[in-house]
Amino acid sequence: MAFINENYLKLQGSYLFSEIARRVNKFKEENPDAKIIRLGIGDVTRPLAPAVIEAMHKAVDEMSKEETFRGYGPEQGYSFLINKVIENDYLPRGIKLSEDEVFISDGAKSDTGNIQEIFGLNNTIAVTDPVYPVYVDSNVMAGRTGVYTESGHFEKITYLPCTADNNFIPEIPKHKVDMIYLCFPNNPTGMTLTKKELKKWVDYAKENKAIILYDSAYEAFIQEDDVPHSIYEVEGAKEVAIEFRSFSKTAGFTGTRCAYTVVPKEVVAYTSSGEPHPLNKLWNRRQTTKFNGVPYIIQQGAAAVYTPEGQKQIKATIDYYMTNAKIIKKGLEDVGLTVFGGVNAPYIWLKTPAGLSSWEFFDKLLKEINVVGTPGSGFGPSGEGYFRLTAFGSRENTEEAVERFRKGLKL
Ligand code: PLP
Repeated sequence: MAFINENYLKLQGSYLFSEIARRVNKFKEENPDAKIIRLGIGDVTRPLAPAVIEAMHKAVDEMSKEETFRGYGPEQGYSFLINKVIENDYLPRGIKLSEDEVFISDGAKSDTGNIQEIFGLNNTIAVTDPVYPVYVDSNVMAGRTGVYTESGHFEKITYLPCTADNNFIPEIPKHKVDMIYLCFPNNPTGMTLTKKELKKWVDYAKENKAIILYDSAYEAFIQEDDVPHSIYEVEGAKEVAIEFRSFSKTAGFTGTRCAYTVVPKEVVAYTSSGEPHPLNKLWNRRQTTKFNGVPYIIQQGAAAVYTPEGQKQIKATIDYYMTNAKIIKKGLEDVGLTVFGGVNAPYIWLKTPAGLSSWEFFDKLLKEINVVGTPGSGFGPSGEGYFRLTAFGSRENTEEAVERFRKGLKL
């Protein structure tokens, strides 16, 4: 008899997005003429940069000739892309990395989900609340979290509430945890940490021999000066942090798939007898065993992001989304809503008015102005009473949605 991994039965499922779809479909059936605007999606809508397309076309042609055809590439990624990452994303910030510290992958989702495999099952984990669900679910699957309780928490996870009360800055836990997932700029709150705040986490990790798993998938959206783009801007972070980045939002690769993870050689975790062991070696082993590399064509496309034209083009797209963010933020503030995020991230996190729950506000928006967003409670218990809108829509839809907030929403 084959048994299942019963940890999967503890998962809280994809309730959030299926429930959104269910409610929207029901509304559409009852109101077939309503023009629904979706500002709930976390997916980009602008096409790939011309420089990326051109590089991918060229790479496709190379695949057609025997002399330039490529089969399996290095599992960790081609040097031409790794070196571009190091030279452009890290060196200008004073961060030196060697080629074997950067692992090219098919996504920050895979990497943030898979990274827990190289850690012991008895490690305790901490996540910010609300949170990108992959960190939690991948640990549930591995059996690190215990069961789901009525309060909406897994019993063995340490939740770090991020609400308006603490300005969305997670507090250092009073007890010891072994693995800490941080994501800044944050999805879903759109908020950031200063370097000083981030340093507290690095200090905590050093003191407690803990590891920080730092997701900076949205770093390219940072507009303000005092916001670190990489955790390695904090001195000593290389000893305690792994960083995840992605071309998904930076350069529109959500459907194209390319990302990277930095595992410095200094970062160690321990054997049960207390011997330090480099995580770089373990991640290399994990990737070379279970992953066979990102396609050459895609890596050439990603490398073109770093050309002068590529940089100009992706910046224009990011500016487009961040202008949307400004339009939403201002429009919502004008109607008297309390709004967070949207300054250094493409997410706008608003406080639901009049004590409405996240789902009550979802229904109200759908009914009164036919706008779809994401209920904050879907990202964790501390997301209750909040609501997420994204800046990834078209300008036209964004402006129209804001106009509807102004004219149609009954507050
Ligand atoms: N990390 C965060 C915080 C995200 O919001 C997302 C996507 O929404 C990802 C990672 C996934 O990125 P990728 O497309 O590289 O898998």
